[in-house]
Amino acid sequence: MPDLTTDSLSGIGMTSQRTRDRMVERLRTQGIQNASVLRIMAATPRHLFVDEALATRAYEDTALPIGFGQTLSQPYVVARMTELLLEAGMPTSVLEIGTGSGYQAAVLAQLVPRVYTVERIGALAQRARRLLDGVGFRNIQFKLDDGHMGWLEQGPYEAILLTAAPGEIPESLLQQLTPGGRLLAPVGAGERQHLVMVTREGNIFVHRTLDAVSFVPMRAGHEA
Ligand code: SAH
Repeated sequence: MPDLTTDSLSGIGMTSQRTRDRMVERLRTQGIQNASVLRIMAATPRHLFVDEALATRAYEDTALPIGFGQTLSQPYVVARMTELLLEAGMPTSVLEIGTGSGYQAAVLAQLVPRVYTVERIGALAQRARRLLDGVGFRNIQFKLDDGHMGWLEQGPYEAILLTAAPGEIPESLLQQLTPGGRLLAPVGAGERQHLVMVTREGNIFVHRTLDAVSFVPMRAGHEA
């Protein structure tokens, strides 16, 4: 596990530990209860995952642009999805679809033993990998690909998290869940999306519809 609290990473002023602590206090009042999730979000320097010009806004309760028309979700949504994904117990591995800035992967990688993350835009995948490798994560594996197909070779997974919204959950992702495994995804076209939690019980997939959310759409294909 990398030490993200060193002086060079932890930030000053609007990117300091105090600012992260205030963010976590807000998450608590917004209803996030999982102590491990709160502890990790307090320890993760979110400002490193956005452009320097946006660093002072990294701990606001807002989504931020990360280039290529993509966004890093607001802290509450990251916390909520992480909490939901872990509510039934700690998975040994998680597959994330939509690496983006790498922030969600960094949060997960401090909670679960192995994280696999797939991104369709080469420049984003590369930037996230450089950042996360650079600060010392050794338990995240990256892949540039269309996440609709998941990552078959590394599966099956006890947990799968989508951070881009498909119109419908791709069947091949459901097939990469272990028995008892769970998949959490924003589902729906346009602005009208809901978080959907799917639990695999044998070969039956139980769907539960949760919060209304707004994510960038999941797109087909991948680009260097
Ligand atoms: N989890 C990210 C959020 C990034 S936004 C973070 O913490 O920053 C969603 C990301 O999903 C974008 O980077 C987008 O390029 C990616 N994406 C969209 N469709 C995809 C697909 N089919 N396969 C893999 N990634 C996809």
